[in-house]
Amino acid sequence: MPEARGTDTGYYFRMPTSSGPPAACSAVRISRRGATRLKEGHVWVYRSDIISADGVAPGALVKVTDERGKSLGTALYSSASQIAVRMISAGPVADLPGLLRERLQAAIAYRARVVTDSDAYRVVFSEADFLPGLIVDRYNDLLSLQVLTQAIDREPVREVVTAELNRQLKPAAIVERVDPRVRELEQLAPLSSGLIQGEKNNTIFTMNGVRFHYDALEGQKTGAFLDQRENYAAAAQYARGEALDVFCYQGGFALHLAQQCSSVTGIDSSRPALEVADRNAALNGREIEWIEANAFDLLRDSADAGRRFDTIALDPPAFAKSKKTLDTALRGYKELNLRALKMLRPGGTLITCSCSYHVSLADFMEVVADSARDMHRTLRVSETRSQARDHPILLTVPETAYLKCLIVGVSY
Ligand code: SAH
Repeated sequence: MPEARGTDTGYYFRMPTSSGPPAACSAVRISRRGATRLKEGHVWVYRSDIISADGVAPGALVKVTDERGKSLGTALYSSASQIAVRMISAGPVADLPGLLRERLQAAIAYRARVVTDSDAYRVVFSEADFLPGLIVDRYNDLLSLQVLTQAIDREPVREVVTAELNRQLKPAAIVERVDPRVRELEQLAPLSSGLIQGEKNNTIFTMNGVRFHYDALEGQKTGAFLDQRENYAAAAQYARGEALDVFCYQGGFALHLAQQCSSVTGIDSSRPALEVADRNAALNGREIEWIEANAFDLLRDSADAGRRFDTIALDPPAFAKSKKTLDTALRGYKELNLRALKMLRPGGTLITCSCSYHVSLADFMEVVADSARDMHRTLRVSETRSQARDHPILLTVPETAYLKCLIVGVSY
């Protein structure tokens, strides 16, 4: 992967520059506030910081300048999104297809170095791979593509991306996963999820020695929370005894805990997710008890009824979708962690996660500490973890860091 570092041509924007003469592309002028944001290392400019974007086509490659016309680099433009500009280079870009191919090659080479014991991982993580608007996941011989911006949706860009993915990874098929809301926000024509290349729509992938079904067909769609891959393996190192996986989805933690534990129970409110979880358990020859329930209610009732466990994983959905809901989110995390601590036997292990970007690691640690104080228990942190390395984080783009995972031991 190219290193995120300063360059001679633009310390504003700490990304690799591409060589070659400037391309004849249209220009976007941005405000001082927008320019400051780029100088601080971010890669987005909001619409409110655009001074002029006259005649710029949706999804165009644009030169970005400050108020006085000084170049700040090259970006991909969106005419609809609140994020109007996503930088792709600190310098001029003469050959966009060439740059895209280079970035894809770097993204793939990086995964070859950091992903072990898995044929499922995130191949491209948007801004964090200097390919804003593009997400590619690999599930064994299938690739799943997400197009999040006007620029990446352009046919020539799609062609370069799929051609390079084919050349490098030789998938049996490529599936496109569409979020209708994203297309609406980007004012792109509606599109449905499905195969965009090849015939094969399901496969089995293996991570950390655990096998999972992957199905791309609408209605029985599966997939995985690939960002937890390394946390699953870490959790399994501490797991023992009776285990509980709360918000288990298709069994990610549960199946890993089952490698070490005498019994495993998984809870989720989604029946379709639990049906896949059950097929996954069968695939691995495991017996796991799946319970369809609201986790908050079930944890309260089970804790009150005296049900106890040695290992508990908590991996709820993002509670804080925006800054405004932060307080409610923190109360949700507190409630869950309290219940879990009540149910953990002395000497047990809690694996507790938050995927809310708006909840910082410090906030999250404080919530867990608060729960421990209320329960009169002392927690010892074994690991403070984040997202797997195939979901890299840009130090100056906080939005790329969202997952927190604490593995803590509960005092005797
Ligand atoms: N731990 C999973 C990912 C969890 S995603 C893994 O590693 O694969 C969050 C899950 O929480 C989803 O499966 C969703 O169905 C479930 N969920 C959301 N709200 C819930 C609730 N109130 N009670 C139980 N499950 C819930």
